[in-house]
Amino acid sequence: MAKSDALAGPGSRLLEQQLQWFVKLRWIAGSLVVIGAMLDRYWFAQYTDRTLLLEIVGASILVYNAVFYIALKQTSPQKRSLLLLFAWIHLLADFISLAMLITLTHGLRSPLLGFFVFHMVFASLLLPRLMALAATAAAIAMVGTALFVSNQMPESRGEWFTAFGAVVTLVGVVFLANHLTRSLRRQRRQLLRQNKRIRKVSRQMRRQHRLLAQHEKMVALGQMAAGVAHEIANPLASMDSLLQLAQRKPENPRPDLVQKLRDQVARVSQIVQQMRSFSHPTDGQWQNQPVNTVVEQALDILRFDKRLNRVQVIREFGEDVGAIALQPHALQQVIVNLFSNALDAVESAENPTVTVRTARRDGSVIIEVIDNGGGIRPEHMKRLFEPFFTTKEVGRGTGLGLSISYRLIDQQDGQLWARSELGAGATFTIRLRDRASHSQNREAPAGAAVISGNPNS
Ligand code: ADP
Repeated sequence: MAKSDALAGPGSRLLEQQLQWFVKLRWIAGSLVVIGAMLDRYWFAQYTDRTLLLEIVGASILVYNAVFYIALKQTSPQKRSLLLLFAWIHLLADFISLAMLITLTHGLRSPLLGFFVFHMVFASLLLPRLMALAATAAAIAMVGTALFVSNQMPESRGEWFTAFGAVVTLVGVVFLANHLTRSLRRQRRQLLRQNKRIRKVSRQMRRQHRLLAQHEKMVALGQMAAGVAHEIANPLASMDSLLQLAQRKPENPRPDLVQKLRDQVARVSQIVQQMRSFSHPTDGQWQNQPVNTVVEQALDILRFDKRLNRVQVIREFGEDVGAIALQPHALQQVIVNLFSNALDAVESAENPTVTVRTARRDGSVIIEVIDNGGGIRPEHMKRLFEPFFTTKEVGRGTGLGLSISYRLIDQQDGQLWARSELGAGATFTIRLRDRASHSQNREAPAGAAVISGNPNS
């Protein structure tokens, strides 16, 4: 018992499902016996003196099937030993019914004899091989006894051959069906094991991706560090002057000086707050937020970047963009990365310009980061979103920004792609679905497959 219960698991659930299926088939079989007997009573007149008995056997099949149905509902699928016992009871009850039906319908010449083959298949599905063979022996013994009791034992040599053929067929069916089900079960177990392994690997990969994204953020923060330090140094210098002023006349506290000091402290703490928020691990939390605000916050993080000194930044924010469900931290990280790449790209451009555009199109929100830098070489286009692909010198590029950005957008059910003409700049486009608008009035746009690299290439 304990050993069988130890087997509880997916195998037990399968056994339970097979028994349920068996019960469903028996509803049909029982009904057919009753209907067949009734048809014979009023129409075919083959078994005239036995139609009532046939109807009773058919009705009793339906009755015990109802009992099995209820018992199966009450049984925990974890109890494999109990389910195996059930399987035996199902088979034995059917063998008894079939043996009775066969004796009532001309013994070895009965059209119902073939039904034993079905049961041998069921026995092979439900039971281990030895048990299935034992069930076959039980079936043969029951039919033999029923034929003997009803005086319908084979008499001629031909009848004995027919009986022998039936026995060989039944045993052969059990061997064959059992062989097939065993190999199916083995494959199923292998699939389950592989499935488990794949789930584990994908969990590990998700963890690695989170770590990589965090690492990339830290690199971005490191790049900003000089600008941030400069930005903090300014308010500190003015705070120092204000304190020197206050020190000169300590007996005369000036509320306007205190207010100015507080303003500078607020400025520093806002910067620290922003950096802290950006360095926080990107969670996958969804929020309904105005897209333009999220984009603006991302650009704000980079405002200290010294590369901005000679770059013109154009904001073309669509007024009708509004709010959608998005992952704000993830989106900010992507925009910071695209914007930072654009700043690198326009480094040696004549009139360095980066345009950040937002718009609403076909129930989706489009965010574009456009630069007039050197553009992307066609041979690099396909590799842009590969991890560790970089054309930047060691120490400046990790090659992770775009691959992480791609994932962060993909996890929001969006798309990220690039277009570029060599020498004429590059455009990176993010498309995020407005789930509310899609669920209300339209399906996903045609061809919304995730595109990596240039969709036009
Ligand atoms: P990294 O910036 O660390 O190199 P990314 O994954 O962000 O890593 O970018 C990969 C490569 O894509 C960059 O090295 C660069 O060659 C190219 N790239 C990205 N953005 C642009 C752009 N706006 N213009 C030209 N090339 C770009």
